[in-house]
Amino acid sequence: MAGEPQADCLFCKIVAGEVPATVVRDTETTLAFRDINPQAPTHVLVIPKAHYADAAALAAAAPQITADVLREAGEVAAQEKIAVAEGGPGTGYRVVFNTGTGAGQTVFHAHAHVLGGRGLNWPPG
Ligand code: IMP
Repeated sequence: MAGEPQADCLFCKIVAGEVPATVVRDTETTLAFRDINPQAPTHVLVIPKAHYADAAALAAAAPQITADVLREAGEVAAQEKIAVAEGGPGTGYRVVFNTGTGAGQTVFHAHAHVLGGRGLNWPPG
């Protein structure tokens, strides 16, 4: 059921403490931890503690938790000092929700990638 922990979900196991993670922020509804395969100097994942398969399912079922995830993405950026726009490469950050396998989603528990600390090209690959 939407929101319930899934036994076969890696990120539910991280929430439960069954799989280790480098946690950078922890709230009642969200967890933020470093990506195991970072694509930028700062690469943090912000997840809802409750299980939703992707960002669309999260937004449809739990708008307040969706807002919590987005707020925490901003808090991570501030904490990591990538949020300040100083006008050069490495300032500013990107929040990405890969949604669906064709878009690169590999873990089907909603998560926001917070990427920064280097120049980020547009369009993305
Ligand atoms: P997706 O490809 O958008 O679904 O993102 C999943 C992310 O989870 C990838 O960037 C992976 O590197 C990351 N990842 C997979 N396993 C772990 C883990 O155990 N700890 C932290 N990040 C992980």
